[in-house]
Amino acid sequence: MNIKENVALAPLTTLRVGGPARYFVEASCEDEVREAVDFARTRSLPLFVLGGGSNLVVADSGWPGLVLRIAISRMCNEEAGNAVLFSVGAGLDWDDFVARAVAQNCAGVECLSGIPGSVGGTPVQNVGAYGQEVADTIESVRALDMKEDRIVVLPRPACEFRYRSSIFNTAERGRYIILRVNYRLQRGGGPSLRYADLKEHFAQTKTPPTLDAVRQAVREIRCRKGMLIVHGDADCRSAGSFFKNPVLSDEQFRELTARARTRGLEVPSYPALEARRKASAAWLVEHSGFAKGFRLGAAGISTKHALAIINTGNARANDIVRIKETIQQGVESTWGILLELEPVFVGF
Ligand SMILES: Cc1cc2nc3c(=O)[nH]c(=O)nc-3n(C[C@H](O)[C@H](O)[C@H](O)COP(=O)(O)OP(=O)(O)OC[C@H]3O[C@@H](n4cnc5c(N)ncnc54)[C@H](O)[C@@H]3O)c2cc1C
Repeated sequence: MNIKENVALAPLTTLRVGGPARYFVEASCEDEVREAVDFARTRSLPLFVLGGGSNLVVADSGWPGLVLRIAISRMCNEEAGNAVLFSVGAGLDWDDFVARAVAQNCAGVECLSGIPGSVGGTPVQNVGAYGQEVADTIESVRALDMKEDRIVVLPRPACEFRYRSSIFNTAERGRYIILRVNYRLQRGGGPSLRYADLKEHFAQTKTPPTLDAVRQAVREIRCRKGMLIVHGDADCRSAGSFFKNPVLSDEQFRELTARARTRGLEVPSYPALEARRKASAAWLVEHSGFAKGFRLGAAGISTKHALAIINTGNARANDIVRIKETIQQGVESTWGILLELEPVFVGF
């Protein structure tokens, strides 16, 4: 194990803010993960598990304990009837896995192309986009249970996947270190074309698109929205969507619709939102006075996506916190809805 000291964390995140880790180590096998946990335990250091750093805001003061970056990247697969079971190391880049699955003509994750971060990060907030979420294909998660001090395999129901949540970011936050994720994909399965943007993209196509065509389409759409990491493009120096789409009660939804009507507006509604009575967080932000391209100090809103808070160049974590509070307060005073945060705040 190569434990380093005072390692800058900002370059290891997509938002690129925050201070250093007191201690930092990378683990490329399960034994190294255990060693790292022992190191932290024997010194009573708080432990933070880092994946690809794409869903994080790190405090300017950094992390006072050990940051453990998971780098287990081996992947293997086996046939199971029409399905293929992929066992994927938590440290593998998520989009690399998607590319390999699509190249093997396996359906189930093609709409999740271009999401940054690691495989191990995907169960944490049940990553989703363009009509798919990983809960649809995860068979089980192999993890180190730090409470019981043993390796466990959690079948899908035990992960309690919901919209942007699982036990890993709610009830059991901090208990498990994800080592491998097992996905069940369909060999030769058709691509998922549920989402309006995707349907539109293929509207003129006569034959059904291949998995690879859908993967490329998703990446193109994401790029237009600043949701694909393109080096040098400030619009994607973000943590993705900063706010979740609020899930509303019937009464809250009625109240929102009534408020909109008094301003001559109609709350957007389409099937993906209606199914769970979700309101569009992007619409709420834009109709509270925060247009795309809005700036507050060195932080801002992407010019391509109303939900992406960006670091325009030299932002510090405090600038990110200031703009997110300004937006939350603006939306709450205009619409009576407190937007929930999607990224994880580290060291605050
Ligand atoms: C441009 C952009 C676009 C995005 N688009 C989407 C999108 O379309 N849909 C979506 O759902 N998300 C999206 N995201 C958010 C982000 O990419 C995902 O949440 C991603 O899965 C996070 O994985 P990560 O490896 O980067 O995790 P990190 O950011 O490193 O960590 C996030 C959380 O997961 C925990 N964690 C990470 N790895 C492990 C592990 N092995 N064991 C235990 N805990 C772990 C961390 O402790 C932390 O709590 C986007 C982000 C960006 C920057």
